[in-house]
Amino acid sequence: MDAKKLQHFKDMLLEKRQEVLERIEQLREVALESNYKDSYGDHSGYAYHMADQGTDAMEREKAFLFLSREKKYLQQIEDALQRIELNEYGICRVCGEEIDEKRLEIVPTTRICVPCKLAEAKKKG
Ligand SMILES: [Zn+2]
Repeated sequence: MDAKKLQHFKDMLLEKRQEVLERIEQLREVALESNYKDSYGDHSGYAYHMADQGTDAMEREKAFLFLSREKKYLQQIEDALQRIELNEYGICRVCGEEIDEKRLEIVPTTRICVPCKLAEAKKKG
């Protein structure tokens, strides 16, 4: 891959990394805010309080789920950026051929080309 294209994918990945970092920050806030409400929330009315707690627990659970997903994605972005530095970006980890750039445009963190992915999916059955 030539330097210009490599730079294009690098910019794309850096932008995505920024987005993910912002989402992680927001999700952390949701998780922390739920804790805060638990301790200092509105205690007027028992039933209302119970319902409120239930929602909080669910919101927090969701936030943690998304958080771990975003962290995994962040790791994939970091790995892809590392491969750009090592000049290994866009090379299929299975067959060693260059991955189709159209695929990289859609999934810039991918490490496997379409034919190999299909072959692996078949093997798994
Ligand atoms: Zn391949």
